[in-house]
Amino acid sequence: MIRFENVSKRYPDGTTAVDALSFEVRAGELVTLVGPSGCGKTTTMRMVNRLVEPTSGSVLLDGRDVAEADAVALRRRIGYVVQQGGLFPHRSVLDNTAAVPLLLGRPRAAARARAAELLELVGLDPAVFGPRYPDQLSGGQRQRVGVARALAGDPPVLLMDEPFGAVDPVVRDRLQREFLDLQGRLRKTVLFVTHDIEEAVRLGDRIAVYGEGRIEQYDTPAAVLGAP
Ligand code: ADP
Ligand code: ADP
Repeated sequence: MIRFENVSKRYPDGTTAVDALSFEVRAGELVTLVGPSGCGKTTTMRMVNRLVEPTSGSVLLDGRDVAEADAVALRRRIGYVVQQGGLFPHRSVLDNTAAVPLLLGRPRAAARARAAELLELVGLDPAVFGPRYPDQLSGGQRQRVGVARALAGDPPVLLMDEPFGAVDPVVRDRLQREFLDLQGRLRKTVLFVTHDIEEAVRLGDRIAVYGEGRIEQYDTPAAVLGAP
């Protein structure tokens, strides 16, 4: 479903962030990208939705080079979750969650009804949390809204960049459990960036272990942990 073919990225200042990367993510599979800061995980992820253009090589989504897709159409098919939720500070939680359906031209009432459903899905009562603003939420609640917003357009693909990185361990544990449960039902094709190997092992169907600019191992959690 997502396929990297010999992809390299060199930034204008000469930094090679990713070097000759080739790997594939199957439909419905959750792949975690794990490794220390600066090894190219975010760059890899952002080449899927074209926030970053490869210097060479191709990124294919359903067999088609994303470089040839219309960027807006492409991003409709790809939900994007960033650390701290990436919410609009001056919009309510409900309107943040409804942002994508509204952009897609859904009528306001329908977009808000869908947003309320999505807030339920991520464990937030829309009557309580819908009218609040992002600064009236805890870190974990903001992350939940970020996930709800990314799901709003029913994208088959999710890109998640350290989505649970900014919360304490107890909250992270809960978010991970809830997200696994959700993913079990929704079966999105997911790329999930983390620097936490425990998180990578817990969530990933497969794990891409990064060294500097490259994937050093790409396998199941059991294989990465060295089980027979
Ligand atoms: P990670 O997500 O693993 O922390 P990144 O993909 O963010 O890694 O970064 C990989 C390398 O590319 C790092 O050396 C980083 O400093 C560099 N880099 C990232 N973005 C840019 C940019 N816009 N311009 C120049 N260098 C960048
Ligand atoms: P930053 O990390 O620079 O603070 P973000 O990572 O939150 O910002 O967003 C980067 C850009 O991605 C923004 O310009 C935003 O409009 C865009 N963006 C938002 N949603 C999506 C999406 N689903 N797919 C691709 N890009 C998106």
